[in-house]
Amino acid sequence: MTNPSLADLNPATMSKAPPRFHLLAKPSGSTCNLDCAYCFFLSKEALYPNAKSRMSEQTLENYIRQLLEAHRTPTVTIAWQGGEPTLMGLDFFKRSVELAYQYRRPGQALEFTFQTNGVLLDDDWCAFLKEHNFLIGLSVDGPQEIHDTYRLNKGGQGTFKQVMRGWEHLRKREVDYNILCTVNAANERHGRKVYRFFRDELKATFVQFIPIVERATAETLPIANLGWSERPGGQRLLYTQSGSLVTERSVGGEQYGRFLIDIYEEWLRGDVGKVFVQLFDVTLQAYFGEHLLCIHAPTCGYGPALEHNGDLYSCDHFVEPDFLLGNINATHMIELVSSAQQRRFGDNKRDLLTAQCRACEVRGLCHGGCPKDRFVPSRDGEAGHNYLCEGLYRFFTHTRPTMSIMARLVQQGKYADGVMEVVRADDAKRGRNDPCPCGNGKKFKACHGARG
Ligand code: SF4
Ligand code: SF4
Repeated sequence: MTNPSLADLNPATMSKAPPRFHLLAKPSGSTCNLDCAYCFFLSKEALYPNAKSRMSEQTLENYIRQLLEAHRTPTVTIAWQGGEPTLMGLDFFKRSVELAYQYRRPGQALEFTFQTNGVLLDDDWCAFLKEHNFLIGLSVDGPQEIHDTYRLNKGGQGTFKQVMRGWEHLRKREVDYNILCTVNAANERHGRKVYRFFRDELKATFVQFIPIVERATAETLPIANLGWSERPGGQRLLYTQSGSLVTERSVGGEQYGRFLIDIYEEWLRGDVGKVFVQLFDVTLQAYFGEHLLCIHAPTCGYGPALEHNGDLYSCDHFVEPDFLLGNINATHMIELVSSAQQRRFGDNKRDLLTAQCRACEVRGLCHGGCPKDRFVPSRDGEAGHNYLCEGLYRFFTHTRPTMSIMARLVQQGKYADGVMEVVRADDAKRGRNDPCPCGNGKKFKACHGARG
């Protein structure tokens, strides 16, 4: 093992390197203390059989040092996720922060982020997270009956109560947190209920929705439907992005759009400027030609994933042998992220768009979505089209009139929340028995116009 440093790099590599990228480090690999039914990351343990998935001190130091050396921006984000990062124990993160301050260049500001299921968070953890201004992503799928459908512990029991204990510790110590919610077969018809729970009960001001799309082939589907964890004596698959079928837990393509619109119409009636829903923000920014989320950017490839042993992969969704870029203990991460392999990975997002996407009226907002979801035929029968297309198209076209109003307001130097007055005025003209503008077929008074 070597400890590659900047001095080993030739200037040509440096000139090709991106000034910033968002690396997700998985210090405990895919190991988790929970057993969420849809979490195919659990199956990635099979990539490292017999290995104890824990990042060593040497790999940790190489990671932090190289990340800070690689960035040519004033702020560097040090992001941890899993598996479940809290399994590493608090001392590991204390050491990480120490190393970050040791290797920080003059003028470099640090941001720490951490994604967790929340179960192990206690007062000691939260005091530490607060002290270093960590931003926490807390995984919750909705109120208890929804959350407990798929987010289970190793004994098959729902985890809602344990997660809420973690959330209470975060609140008590005033740690910043976002809610990360998957959209799946159990909550896809309950957008507003889920959103209201986050806003009203969890006091969330930043929410992110992640569609669950678990691919399978005709042969693997029956096993995939059973879940991805290790079962004694049972068959276990290594999840790869292959197959054109989806598990029964996956969100429906069209339903994903309906779910988002259900929340958007609620948000438009009181929450603009108060609650930040990642996709809504990202969509508004796209009206100004800025693409803040890789999924809806023209190209990608700036979000590599680091395994516990230093292996660097093209993306967290492609932790599989064909997408291994190399190991940071042998090759500096600057070389890996600027390699031809990684550039091709990112450019393929644009270059492999179907003709339907290329001609699509909302291409500038959608950009064909994430390559991992492109596995169904397009309208013309071309392979490699996005499974979520129907929902994405529905969402981007539905939101266009009000997004355009918000974009105009921002352009005029005003706040986007002015759109709520326009919506209120439209609602005042709308009959209570008229169809709801969300398009779900219900009367307005029984849907987004319901009082109370
Ligand atoms: S593959 Fe998808 S998630 Fe990964 S970087 Fe590209 S767009 Fe983002
Ligand atoms: S909405 Fe569908 S057709 Fe249009 S760019 Fe997105 S995935 Fe492609």
